[in-house]
Amino acid sequence: MIGEQTVILVLGFGLFALIALIVVAVVVVALIIVAVVLHVSEQRAEEERAEALAAAERDAEAGFGGEGVDAAEVQCADRAAAAAAGEEAPEEFELVSVEPGDQKWYVNMDEDDTAHNGRMVTITATISPVRSGINVYFTVVPGADNRIGLAADDQGSLSHDRSATNDEGKARTRLRLTTYGGDEFRVSASLQEDAELGADGTESSGNIVVWRRMYYEIAEMRKPTAGQFEMAAATVTMVRNAYANVFVEMSETGTRDVGDHHANFNTHDDGYTWADGFCSSDGVPFKIHYVIVDHLCPTSRREEVPASFDCAAVVNTPNNPYFRPFDFDGAEWLISAQYRNAEGSFVDFPAGKVTRTIASGYTKLRVDFTAVGVTPTAESPVPVNIRYYKAPGYNGWGGANLHLVICRGSMEEAYEAGQIETIMAGTSVHEPGHSLGLVYGSLAWKSAAHSNHCNYRDCVMWYQGYSGRPRDFHDETVSDPGCRTFLRGKDMTRSAMGSTWQFPR
Ligand SMILES: [Zn+2]
Ligand SMILES: [Zn+2]
Repeated sequence: MIGEQTVILVLGFGLFALIALIVVAVVVVALIIVAVVLHVSEQRAEEERAEALAAAERDAEAGFGGEGVDAAEVQCADRAAAAAAGEEAPEEFELVSVEPGDQKWYVNMDEDDTAHNGRMVTITATISPVRSGINVYFTVVPGADNRIGLAADDQGSLSHDRSATNDEGKARTRLRLTTYGGDEFRVSASLQEDAELGADGTESSGNIVVWRRMYYEIAEMRKPTAGQFEMAAATVTMVRNAYANVFVEMSETGTRDVGDHHANFNTHDDGYTWADGFCSSDGVPFKIHYVIVDHLCPTSRREEVPASFDCAAVVNTPNNPYFRPFDFDGAEWLISAQYRNAEGSFVDFPAGKVTRTIASGYTKLRVDFTAVGVTPTAESPVPVNIRYYKAPGYNGWGGANLHLVICRGSMEEAYEAGQIETIMAGTSVHEPGHSLGLVYGSLAWKSAAHSNHCNYRDCVMWYQGYSGRPRDFHDETVSDPGCRTFLRGKDMTRSAMGSTWQFPR
């Protein structure tokens, strides 16, 4: 018993010592961590102080901010001095202008005040007579219809609400814009602190409106005959108007190319590779590249279609506007073609008897019984069975990179000539919409039936082009959030677009 107790005691003492040791170790480690964290946060605070100081110095050098004296005070002293010297009372200080005037500002572009790019707008107030060191007070006035509920770091604000004039009688502040397309701001200035907006003596800048800039470039494809699959000026105007409606200004890079004919691109990548040859790096990554081609129908999307009809003449071009054979080079689209012979059995046509032709703008099937062995007439028509690969009528492709492939050849087969330009415009508005994120992810107005498209038929992001489809993104009266609010809020800066719209791809 005694021996056991001793052992337990000894063990107990050993355990106590161990726990004490662990506690001490934990405390020491904790103290070290606290010391390091304190040191780091102190260092960070120090750095922040230094940065703020440097920024203030830069601002002061550039004439932003700075402490001066109120105009009234200077006026008073000047008047007293003039009176004492028996001179005429000096002119009163007044604000003569606040610049800039009305202006679109392209918040997605890299900062460049003179080009009206970036989120920072230099506001310059000028006083008369010219005097340095006079305080000018600034107030930002947001537009009544500005987007509400933006994040705290996406509000309109001023870098300085007071700034002293320099030697040229100019005082400066910086307006920081929101990024929401269509938001607008004015900056009001006064020589008096707390002056009421619009009161006598206040002056205001023009209306600064938040815009984004998007460049575009166009590559067209030569037709096999004369002319080219083109994007007409009227189409471009329609597209630009649709984007202006979401405060995106489209600017042409000035480069246009015309490439050689290619009947169909059997993969997307074939199309993109062709497009690479007719693209410049100007405007990247703020640029989309319209590529107007004949057809792009991937082999994976082709459909096998049976067709049965009677031929009542030696040469027949059955009327079927939905006849869209895949492989527009004419070699592989036909799977089988048979006619009923005199004995009543279906047999294969000789080679070259079933071809395709273009008639009144449409691709048509052409069946020629010359030297086949039967002669169809109106009285005794000959039944024909064929199977062919059909290309669904894809009007365009977009979203994968800066190339937006517009299949004008498909459109010319499927629509009346008078409808082509509006269909072209609709597709040319729709495809960049995909590029910019419509309608993906968990967006509330995304269609459940047609992936990555809009739920509203009267929106350009409806999955299907149809004659008469509106060319605009559906607006706030239809749904908010929706396609228009999404694009107005879309981040289109270099960092946001750089991964999708780069070139070379
Ligand atoms: Zn689409
Ligand atoms: Zn929509």
